[in-house]
This record gives sequence, structure tokens and C-alpha cells, in this order.
Amino acid sequence: MRVYISVDIEGISTVVNTTSTGITGHDYERARRQMTAEANAAVLGALAAGASEIVVNDSHGSMTNLVPEELHPAAELIQGRVKPLLMMAGVDAGFDAAIFVGYHSRMHQSGILSHTINSGAVSNVYLNGQPWGETAINAAIAGYYKVPVVLVSGDNEACQEALSYLGVVETVAVKKAISRFSARSLHPQRACQLIEAGVRRALENVGRYQPFCPEGPYTFTVQFIQAGHADMAAMMPGAVRVDGSTVSFSHTDYIEAFRGLRCMISLASQAR
Ligand SMILES: [Zn+2]
Repeated sequence: MRVYISVDIEGISTVVNTTSTGITGHDYERARRQMTAEANAAVLGALAAGASEIVVNDSHGSMTNLVPEELHPAAELIQGRVKPLLMMAGVDAGFDAAIFVGYHSRMHQSGILSHTINSGAVSNVYLNGQPWGETAINAAIAGYYKVPVVLVSGDNEACQEALSYLGVVETVAVKKAISRFSARSLHPQRACQLIEAGVRRALENVGRYQPFCPEGPYTFTVQFIQAGHADMAAMMPGAVRVDGSTVSFSHTDYIEAFRGLRCMISLASQAR
């Protein structure tokens, strides 16, 4: 059994604000160790369920957050940028399951540090008119390769979002959001125990889970925070200006549509 694990940081236990998520934050070193510990918990659960190959993808910011020396030796680690599939780099049709650790809810939803890909530029992302966050966007990449997402961990809001899009999926809520910057968290060790048990349980019943494969064609519509972002995004060939702050891109192939989404957001982040 081959298992793919994508690890973000906002949904890690005890992370509540940017002092934990930015490399200059005073709590970052502790947070990246807990991020590594929760990734390891998923690895241990996968090994207990019989995994023979485990790939862990560092999926936050610089994508060099996980501490390699502390990662379980059974896992291989994908780090750094640029990665065309970003938080899903390295996934392919040979994986039996995908796991999302430390995920967060989409921009404008409740939940710790809720955002969608780029909190400085993106207000909302819609796929064929439905608001999508990172969980749905990345689950559909896995789904493109016929890989089901079997477990999502994060705060209670991220778990609820995962259930609402994916239907049948194991969730582990490691903290309960009080506001966007405050949460009641499980003890870090307890969070790891629950992730390990949840991953094991999910993978021992991997046949229960279906790949997330929404029907095409695919139109990604991005509502940016301000018109300057949209001015930049609209320069991408094939992009359509919807209104002052909104740009869309369509394709019959989901990965091509995702590439368009990424390019629009990358361009927008250059707005001055
Ligand atoms: Zn992140």
C-alpha cells in the first residue's frame, strides 16, 4: 500500500496565529516540531495499517518547515518550491490513499487562520460557482489520479469543511476554534495519538473511501481582495475578467484548470 501525506501548519494542534506559521514568528520553531510530530503520527498509523511506501509533502509557505531529522525514517520527504502541484506535489495514480494533516478552513469561513492559498490576495475561489478551499482543491487533484482522501486533520472547522465536500472521510479535530486567532487545543501528544489511530482506522478500511472527482469542464473563478490583483491575473492567456476584482479560467482537464488557478494567483501576488 502506497500512502501520500500532505502537511500544512495552520491546522496543527496549538497553532493559533502567525507567531507559529511564519519563519520569523517567536513560536515557529516549536510549531514546526509539532507539525513534524503530527506528520509522524500519520506515518505511524500508515505503517500499522501495512503501508509499504509513504511520501510526505511539506505543504506550507516556504515548504521547508518539517524537520527532516525528526521525520520517521519510513517516510520520504518532498520539500521546497516551486512544485507544480504545490500541496499535492508528488501524488500519482499509484497511491492507494491520501491524507491531509494540519489543514485549515477556507477564506471567510470560521476557523484558525482561515484562508485560500494566498491570504494576501485571494478573497474567494469558486469551482463551477461553488466556493472551494484548499481541502476541496487538493482532494480533486488526488481524485484526478483516482486517489481517495481518507483522513483530514485540523481544527473543527477544517474537519467540517472536509466532511461537507468529501462526504465519507475520517476527520481528526485537534483543536476547537474560538475565533480566527484563538482555539481550545488538545495536548500535542493527544493530537498525535488521535491522528495515528485515525489514519490506521481509515487505511484498514480504505475501500470505504471514493476519489473526489467533480464533473468537468472546470471553471476556477477567483475573487481577489482588490482590483490590482485582478489586473495582474487577467494578463494570463485564457483568463477572463469577470468584474473589477474577479477573474476566471476554464479548462476541460482539472490539472490544467488548477495550473490556471495557480498562475492567476501567482500573478496577482506581484501586484504593486
Ligand atoms: Zn499553510
